[in-house]
Amino acid sequence: MSRPIVATIHTAALRQNLAIVRQAAANSRVWSVVKANAYGHGIDRVWQSFSDTDGFALLNLEEAILLRERGWKKPILLLEGFFHRDELEIIDRYRLTTSVHSNWQIKAIAEAQLSAPLDIYVKMNSGMNRLGFQPEMVYNAWQKLRALDNVAEMTLMAHFAEAEQPEGVTVPMQRVEQAAEGLNCRRSLANSAATMWHPETHFDWVRPGIILYGASPSGQWQDIAGSGLQPAMTLSSEIIGIQNLQAGDGVGYGSRYRASAAQRIGAVACGYADGYPRHAPTGTPVMVDGVRTQTVGAVSMDMIMVDLTPCDRAGIGSKVELWGNAVKIDDVASAAGTVGYELMCALAPRVPVVTE
Ligand SMILES: *Cc1c(COP(=O)(O)O)cnc(C)c1O
Repeated sequence: MSRPIVATIHTAALRQNLAIVRQAAANSRVWSVVKANAYGHGIDRVWQSFSDTDGFALLNLEEAILLRERGWKKPILLLEGFFHRDELEIIDRYRLTTSVHSNWQIKAIAEAQLSAPLDIYVKMNSGMNRLGFQPEMVYNAWQKLRALDNVAEMTLMAHFAEAEQPEGVTVPMQRVEQAAEGLNCRRSLANSAATMWHPETHFDWVRPGIILYGASPSGQWQDIAGSGLQPAMTLSSEIIGIQNLQAGDGVGYGSRYRASAAQRIGAVACGYADGYPRHAPTGTPVMVDGVRTQTVGAVSMDMIMVDLTPCDRAGIGSKVELWGNAVKIDDVASAAGTVGYELMCALAPRVPVVTE
C-alpha cells in the first residue's frame, strides 16, 4: 500500500451542479469555467461531466487545445484573450472565442491572416479595475471591431468584483448599461455569485466556475447549503500514527499546541505539500471515521495532527476526510483565512486522484 492520501472527483456532483446552474439561469447559455485545470479537479477528468454545457471558458491555449483534441466542438472562450499576437494563429486554427480588453488586441486582429472570422468578447471594466475598456471607451472599441472582416459574432463581457453582496452588482450594472447604450448587444456578465443571486445579470451567457465544483462563491457554505450544489472533490487520507499526550505536552513544529490534560491524538498522512493549507490553525474541522473533530498544532509538510478525544474507536488506518461532503472545503478554507477556490486549485500534483 502506498501513502493513503487520495482526492476523489465525483462526476455525479459535477453533473448535478451544472443542472442546478441550468435551473438558476434557465434562459441563458452556460460557459462552464474550467480555468486553472478545472479549479484543480483536472480538465480531462471533468469535461465529460459538463458535456451538457454550451461552452467552456478558460485561460490557457493548452487547455483549449486539449478540449479540441478530445473532440469538443462547441465554443471555447479565452477569458483573458490572447497575451501575444502570435497566439491568433492557434485561436484561428482551433476556432476559439477570444476576449478583447485592450486596443493592441484590436489592431492585432485587424492585421491577422485568419481562415475565417472569429467570435469576440469585448471585455469592459465595470469597476473591478483589472482588465477591460472603460464604459465610455466600449462604443469606440466595438465599432472598430464590428468593421473588421476578421470579426464574426460579438458579445459584451464584464466581471463583478463583489456579486456575493446583496447590492454588489448595482453600480457595475449601471456601467454595463452605459457601455451598451446604442449597441443592442449580447451580454455575458454573471460569475457564480451573480448566477445564483442576481438573476437580472444573466442575459445571454452566464459564466459560473466555483459553484460547478460545489463550493460557495461567498466562502460561506451556508450561503449555498439549500441550493442542492454538491462538493465535487473529497480529499481523504488515513491515520498513520497515534500519540497519547500528557498535560503540557506540545504537538508539532513550534509546539504550537499544548495538551491541557491527557489526550489522544492521531497523525494524518496529509500536509501542506499535498495542498492542505499551512495556515490552518488548531481547531480546523476534520472527520475521522465519520466523527467530526479538529486539527491540533501546526500543519507540517507531510502530516497534520488531529484530536481523537471524540473518536474512541479511531486507530491506525482510520479514514480521515480533510474536505468533501462532511467537512466542507469552505469551512476548512475560512478557518485558514482563505477561500475554497484557493484550496481546490492548490491540490498538489503528488496527490493521486480517482474519479467516481
Ligand atoms: C474565473 C472567472 C469566472 C468564474 O468565477 P466564479 O467566481 O468561479 O464563478 C467568470 N468570469 C471570469 C472572467 C473569470 O475570470
